[in-house]
Amino acid sequence: MMKFPRRIALLGSTGSIGRQTLDVVRRFPEQFHIVALAARQNIALLAQQVHEFKPSFVSCFADTPIAEEMVRTELPEAILGEEGLLGAATHAEADIVVAATSGLMGLHPTLAAIEAGKAIAIANKETLVMAGALVTQAAQRAGVPLLPIDSEHSAIWQCLRGEENATIQRLLLTASGGPFRSATVEQLRSVTVQQALTHPTWRMGQKITIDSATLMNKGLEVLEAHWLFDIPYEHINVVIHPESIIHSMVEFIDGSIKMQASLPSMHLPIMNALAYPTRLNCADTGFVRELHWADIGKLSFEALDITRFPCFHLALQAAKLGGTYPCALVGADEEAVELFLTGKIGFLDIAALIEAVLEKHQSVQQPDLSATLEACAWARRTAQHLCKRYA
Ligand code: MG
Repeated sequence: MMKFPRRIALLGSTGSIGRQTLDVVRRFPEQFHIVALAARQNIALLAQQVHEFKPSFVSCFADTPIAEEMVRTELPEAILGEEGLLGAATHAEADIVVAATSGLMGLHPTLAAIEAGKAIAIANKETLVMAGALVTQAAQRAGVPLLPIDSEHSAIWQCLRGEENATIQRLLLTASGGPFRSATVEQLRSVTVQQALTHPTWRMGQKITIDSATLMNKGLEVLEAHWLFDIPYEHINVVIHPESIIHSMVEFIDGSIKMQASLPSMHLPIMNALAYPTRLNCADTGFVRELHWADIGKLSFEALDITRFPCFHLALQAAKLGGTYPCALVGADEEAVELFLTGKIGFLDIAALIEAVLEKHQSVQQPDLSATLEACAWARRTAQHLCKRYA
């Protein structure tokens, strides 16, 4: 059991999860200290965070020469590039690494942090989707826990406390359904970037917001649940629940179902991961608003329609095929979302493009780290090449 105060290295400190993690640390200074911060390119915000939390290690990835120049002036102590990210992930003083970078960037630092014996609070689902076997085996070998931050997985994790894995009948992930839950195929065809970036219940980064609109996010979450809880895909289901009050459920072999509920809050799963196995007193924090059941009135549920949301189906297909298919899925999706955000392809082309990439993929069984990254890079190149047909 880790003692308090817990020392945290935060990867992705300027993103949505990163900022909310710092809200929690700011509010519970007796429990948590920040020892390392890593961001990609929001240098102004990173500088503010460094000023406030005084970490002993700062890293800024800085993709471009201009960003690099800015880091050298604003944050001369920051370590640049991959070296900085790995330095933060393996920092000697850290007990917990919060992996909250977006997309593909999280894999390498997460593996390095595991090797260094850090507990991993994992918010980056792509890491588990691409390399679930590598990450979970490494964590087992190193004897470090994977603490889920994704709200659905946090819910399942909470439901499973005190239960035996052999008694699980199935996991039931809930999905808000995103902004286009009731849209027709015709309406989906003409969805704009702005519409897709407006999520009804959650405020998040751009990549995950588009993934939520296509329901790719829910597909990725099925793979994430498979790896985190070691449950076969046939025993993981999804149900649409637009109110986002029940964050997920576990059904047991005796027919009993446990569920975890709250008003939507990302601070809650973050606190759960950081304080595990204890709970923090949230009174007066504003992190989790009080739930008045009578005001809510009723909760609704509906089936997920894969004809309108083919990305969900593609994720499950890639999951069942295994090998490097999930890596290709993540790479193709990363590229397709980027192409959509920059206006190069339409909303429905996202799924079509990912499907075309998967059809061309030549999978490798039991991939190591380099085969994983290569499958992902191949999928990005192939998506880049194939997208010309949608222009
Ligand atoms: Mg989620």
